[in-house]
Amino acid sequence: MSTEDPRRRIPRTDRVLADPRVRAAAAGLGDAAVRAAVLAAQQRARGGEIAPEAVVEAVVAGLSARGASSLSPVLNATGVVVHTNLGRAPLSHAAKQALLAAADYVDVELDLATGQRSARGAGAREALLEACPAAEDALVVTNGAAALVLATTALAGTREVVVSRGEFVEIGAGFRLSDLMESTGARLREVGTTNRTHLGDYEAALGPGTGCILKVHPSNFRVAGFTAAVPLRELRSLADAHGVPLVVDVGSGLLTPDPTLPDEPSLAEALEAGADAVIASGDKLLGGPQAGLLLGRAKTVRRLARFPLARAVRADKLTLAALEATLRGGPTPVGRSLHADPERLRERAEALASVVGAEAVPHDGRVGGGGAPGVPLPGWAVRLPEAAAEALRLGTPAVLPRVHDGACLVDLRCIPEADDAALTDAVRAALEGLR
Ligand SMILES: *Cc1c(COP(=O)(O)O)cnc(C)c1O
Repeated sequence: MSTEDPRRRIPRTDRVLADPRVRAAAAGLGDAAVRAAVLAAQQRARGGEIAPEAVVEAVVAGLSARGASSLSPVLNATGVVVHTNLGRAPLSHAAKQALLAAADYVDVELDLATGQRSARGAGAREALLEACPAAEDALVVTNGAAALVLATTALAGTREVVVSRGEFVEIGAGFRLSDLMESTGARLREVGTTNRTHLGDYEAALGPGTGCILKVHPSNFRVAGFTAAVPLRELRSLADAHGVPLVVDVGSGLLTPDPTLPDEPSLAEALEAGADAVIASGDKLLGGPQAGLLLGRAKTVRRLARFPLARAVRADKLTLAALEATLRGGPTPVGRSLHADPERLRERAEALASVVGAEAVPHDGRVGGGGAPGVPLPGWAVRLPEAAAEALRLGTPAVLPRVHDGACLVDLRCIPEADDAALTDAVRAALEGLR
């Protein structure tokens, strides 16, 4: 029996890197990623987890299993349309194409006719103004939170932002809009109560120390029962009487009212009611890339665009390209999922259920991520044993189902029909793994 320490047989890094199989698998990946894979395999061999002779094989497997990015595509079988953990809105075909094209050099800030510098993102701005004719100007920043901070900081400075107590929203992961605004020096002046705020409450708070009036859509919770809020048109008159700007954060980015979501405010309504600046996210119901949209009166939007903070929250060329294409291109996946025909969802669920030997059950989807809280989207799901959830998540492609009431529910609302075959294979494989 040999007494040699097997760890001495672990191949050195330069030898692994020189192996033609490793070089082939590493094509297109950076040095750091390849070296990390080699180190990981060597460590597994050192720990006795794999044989020293299997190091090269482990490196090749590690490299082929992933591309240069560690993000994995996921089939969203939760029925939640705007799923923050899954990156919110999946992009439309047109937006994906635009994103890819913008990855190279593009004329994002150049007029090709004159060779001179031009306004950045003019195409996205024009598309927004076409989509929202009531707006005089538009500005795109990194996200909705940045748009809110920019608007309140530029308009109120260290003065007061007057806002209803019922509109203090925590947007998730412990972040509160109130903390965000106060972080730049603005002071919040809460008016009214949690459930009821009247025009007189705003009126009593306005004075020389007022920077702006802010109205925020409570986009992720609902206050029901004995409630009152002040309509935007009344706030507009009040703002005019006191010469202060009115800022409205509608959150979800619905362009125009949608009968499916009767309580969800739209950009168009807020602009028509006379807001100086309206704020929305690009990646919620608009169905585009992460972005903060600021639309409104020309004077206000120009003021925001010139404020120094605007440069720190400037949208990148990929966002501008994808946003313009979202607005000008064909239907978005968010729009399709939101308006999916329940009858068609039932047919698809029953087809999947019969192939895998399971049952299709009625299941309500949700808008999710900052939109239409509590509004059910009637549809269908395939009910599987709860244990299938983990197998589905770990499969290829990964599938994220909803786990509820001791069952694993596979809702087809947010799965493109073109992926039904891949989903069927994934469910079959997950169920076989359970046997
Ligand atoms: C989602 C949301 C925000 C934050 O927007 P992000 O794009 O996530 O930064 C701000 N206000 C409201 C009302 C929202 O719904």
